[in-house]
Amino acid sequence: MIASRPRPWKLLLTSALSLSLLITPFSIASAKPKDTGETAYQQVQYLSENIGPRVAGTVAEKNASQYLATQLQVLGLHPTIQNFSYTRKEVTYQSQNVIATKKGKSNKVLIIGAHYDSVSTGKGADDNGSSIGVVLETLKALSKKKTPYTVKVIFFGAEEAGLQGSKYYVSKMTDEEKKNTVGMINLDSLIAGDNMYVYGDQGSQGKLRDFALKIAKKHKIPMSTNPGLNPEYPAGTTGDWSDHSPFKAAGIPYAYFEATNWEIGDLDGYTQTVKHGAIWHTAKDNLTFLEQEFPGRVQTHLKSFTTVLTELVAKADKELQ
Ligand SMILES: [Zn+2]
Repeated sequence: MIASRPRPWKLLLTSALSLSLLITPFSIASAKPKDTGETAYQQVQYLSENIGPRVAGTVAEKNASQYLATQLQVLGLHPTIQNFSYTRKEVTYQSQNVIATKKGKSNKVLIIGAHYDSVSTGKGADDNGSSIGVVLETLKALSKKKTPYTVKVIFFGAEEAGLQGSKYYVSKMTDEEKKNTVGMINLDSLIAGDNMYVYGDQGSQGKLRDFALKIAKKHKIPMSTNPGLNPEYPAGTTGDWSDHSPFKAAGIPYAYFEATNWEIGDLDGYTQTVKHGAIWHTAKDNLTFLEQEFPGRVQTHLKSFTTVLTELVAKADKELQ
């Protein structure tokens, strides 16, 4: 059993429900991007600045889910909302996953997942507006292409409350659906950490990870994997602290994109930066702070992860056969 990184899943504040403002979703995905990463940036900005914190089980989280459903519709997809409830400390909360399917050449499914909820501290720009932005831009880049696999995109609710959305999704998968899924690509916290990483199953089982690293190298993008300095997390792998975990437990191969720094702190990837330590779950998790303290990083990371994810999804069959 792997000890998990001490990401403090925050307790939910019921008062946040009444404080939440109603957000009117509007389309920004239709704006013409000038460069790779720009659409992703606009999405991070909307989620973190316009919607703000999206705490699991609150109206703000629900508003964010509706906004994301609208964005998927703009991309020509037909999103559905998967409602679920979970109980913590004897209180039951409602949350939801946003799901859309993009038919590919094969009926075999490649899942792309990222959580859209956040903790109450900070604005959830890095954790995890960044990944939502990258996934939406990737879908846009692939919108006119037929991908080798059928792509199922899932924006998970209530990750910060204990991986609730991904656990629920996997609990509803049939054995046949699990067998028909070639892999799950998870993205979580991409723009604050010092280094860009992709993890996967151990050794040669990590085909999606290795293909992502190959794509990065081709584009001269400095992306690597966990160096394995900590024996608890062997090289190439990571811990069970994000939405890849329930899929991995169901025997589905995974790749997981993240920016952090595995060479500092407790060597567990929790301390994201040399300059400011951990950014996630702190008041520093907002675009203003990140751009001021790490000039260019947000843009470089969004562009890099979008480039690698787009090619990975477009050519996944080359390495997964
Ligand atoms: Zn996260």
